[in-house]
Amino acid sequence: MLEIKNLHAQIEDGAEILKGINLEIKPGEVHAIMGPNGAGKSTLSSVIAGKEDYEVTDGEILFQGENISEDAPEERAHKGIFLSFQYPVEIPGVSVTNFIKAALNETRKANGLSEMPAKEMLAMIREKSEQLGIKKDFLSRSLNEGFSGGEKKRNEIFQMMMLNPKLAILDETDSGLDIDALRIVADGVNHFKNEGNAVLLITHYQRLLNYIQPDFVHVLANGKIIKTGDKSLALELEEKGYDWLLN
Ligand code: ADP
Ligand code: MG
Ligand code: MG
Repeated sequence: MLEIKNLHAQIEDGAEILKGINLEIKPGEVHAIMGPNGAGKSTLSSVIAGKEDYEVTDGEILFQGENISEDAPEERAHKGIFLSFQYPVEIPGVSVTNFIKAALNETRKANGLSEMPAKEMLAMIREKSEQLGIKKDFLSRSLNEGFSGGEKKRNEIFQMMMLNPKLAILDETDSGLDIDALRIVADGVNHFKNEGNAVLLITHYQRLLNYIQPDFVHVLANGKIIKTGDKSLALELEEKGYDWLLN
């Protein structure tokens, strides 16, 4: 699904942030990336998604066997890479539902498919919103306008489920994920994941991994993956912190 080889990336002024990342994600797998603040976790997710603030200086990113390093963010999205908070904008007058309909049809169009029939779309919206416990009135609210942290999270996970990407990258920032938000993310990921897709979950929180079973846990520090293990590594990190791994 995703193969990252010796990836180096820097910000525009030249400071190198990713210093040789190697990572392979196969279909059906859930990978968690943990690591201290400032390690480069968000940078890695941005670089995979193709955000233009970063320059790849070495290495490559293969998605389904194809080098996507030169692709624009939209192309990567159309190929099936989803990054959480890709659409954080407030759009007054555009509802949660209408936004996702447009995004879904745009993706279909980019892949040579016709618009999804309205009936099918409605059924899908109903199914996914029920799985996430999303109420009808939420679906008709203006996108992100006055959303609470939990509502933003719910919308984000709803977008992921509707767009049904091949690879979902969820970057759970260091700031407070309360227990409700945690459940929303976990429910969403657990409904979403199947043998044909993959999840890259970036998190500060071992707690989240009590609800989502990762196949692999990686520790990213100072721009490199310094350790890889299974779920037990997350427990060890919770107990011991990161210092024992750093020199
Ligand atoms: P993490 O998500 O692991 O906390 P980040 O990827 O956000 O870490 O950041 C890694 C390092 O790169 C930090 O030192 C951060 O300040 C720096 N950095 C990331 N993005 C930028 C940017 N656009 N401009 C300047 N510095 C950045
Ligand atoms: Mg950070
Ligand atoms: Mg971050």
